[in-house]
Amino acid sequence: MSNLPSEPEFEQAYKELAYTLENSTLFEQHPEYRTALKVVSIPERVIQFRVTWEDDAGNLQVNRGYRVQFNSALGPYKGGLRLHPSVNLSILKFLGFEQIFKNALTGLMMGGGKGGADFDPKGKSDAEIRRFCVAFMRELSRHIGADTDVPAGDIGVGGREIGYMFGTYRRDRNRFEGVLTGKGTHWGGSLIRPEATGYGLVYYVTHMLEIAGAGSWEGKRVAISGSGNVAQYAALKCIELGATVVSLSDSKGALVAVDDGFVTVEDIEAIMDLKLKRKSLAEYTPKGNLKYIEGARPWVHVGHVDVALPCATQNEVSKEEAEVLVANGCRFIAEGSNMGCTLEAIEVFENERRTKKGDAIWYAPGKAANCGGVAVSGLEMAQNSQRLSWTKEEVDQKLKDIMKNAFYNGLETAKKYVPMEEGELPSLVAGSNIAGFVKVAQAMYEHGDWW
Ligand code: NDP
Repeated sequence: MSNLPSEPEFEQAYKELAYTLENSTLFEQHPEYRTALKVVSIPERVIQFRVTWEDDAGNLQVNRGYRVQFNSALGPYKGGLRLHPSVNLSILKFLGFEQIFKNALTGLMMGGGKGGADFDPKGKSDAEIRRFCVAFMRELSRHIGADTDVPAGDIGVGGREIGYMFGTYRRDRNRFEGVLTGKGTHWGGSLIRPEATGYGLVYYVTHMLEIAGAGSWEGKRVAISGSGNVAQYAALKCIELGATVVSLSDSKGALVAVDDGFVTVEDIEAIMDLKLKRKSLAEYTPKGNLKYIEGARPWVHVGHVDVALPCATQNEVSKEEAEVLVANGCRFIAEGSNMGCTLEAIEVFENERRTKKGDAIWYAPGKAANCGGVAVSGLEMAQNSQRLSWTKEEVDQKLKDIMKNAFYNGLETAKKYVPMEEGELPSLVAGSNIAGFVKVAQAMYEHGDWW
């Protein structure tokens, strides 16, 4: 690996997976899977391209566009598009790598991929966003298709951007097909897709609470970071189920409850409107007892919480923040964001799980806890293939079933492969990694991808 350029985010994601496989009995039982790990960690294909577009002043602008087609053993490449100035190959490889195993955990037939561009949607007019999306899809459209690669949204890509990209594909390729998910519901989008990642996260944690004997959501205090798609719907579902949400945040700061304050549905609706206009949380004036802290993440400012849901971006919970959460009595941490916790933060949670036994911490990695978004994308693909739309209730029920299966698959796989001391809780991170990996590795073997 030493002659390769440094890819810190990808190396972190690889290490997390490899560490949990190494510390289980998987390779003892199946030494041949070491070869599979070597093969699966290299993308099948990486596409990099130039995107030139014109800003409102008539100037040429240029960005780097990418699509990492990581693994197609279980189906067409599937994973979101991220538009953010930080986007580079390391970040997209980490996201694509995680996506392979996450998609396997949904039980649906989807491979793993990720893409995007280092374009910053903030401060751009609607016309600039449209011109960028058109230019981006002009190039990407050569490489994707309903049976080849089906991208979706991610940071900076919501329904509006998906619409512009879908229209470009339709016009340029002269095909109306399910080539993107997260579409408008009156032209092929699935009901519940916008809500799916946040709702799915909460459904997943419901099983964590249940198995730990911690009861329902009623009365639980929940810290959430982020205020985008995932955070918004996670917060709304928590509130619907009777929990109290005590924080939200964005890239500039955090909104935290003080003096028995809490985030209300009205707060979230106002923030949704603000975020659609790409404004900062700092511009929101809360009505109740909420305080805005500039430059902060919520974790050390929320006091006691029962549940923490990182829902903004990667590496947004550090070791020190993890220690404060634990010291303040938080027992359930589940990632809405991809790789929300640093490796050191995961170690804090996993150590607590190993040593505290009964009252220990339950930590769920993003690839299991946030798989609801891509799961409903998979359901959107199924509806598109049938040219039918399912009801909200049907999709929501399927989402609940998928999240339950993802939870128990991780739990049971951990029991099977991870040695545990008497009274120790199973590791959801190890179990989920092993379950996703084995499914993909086996399909690759049967296809002759490794031998
Ligand atoms: P959005 O763009 O809707 O929201 C992102 C949120 O995170 C915003 O509040 C944003 O703040 C904040 N944020 C972005 N970058 C940073 C940063 N560097 N530091 C602090 N805050 C930051 O994205 P989503 O809600 O869709 O995605 C959030 C996370 O969930 C990502 O990790 C994504 O990969 C993951 N995810 C998303 C899925 C989906 O279906 N959308 C599916 C599975 C995972 P600001 O508004 O200031 O930019």
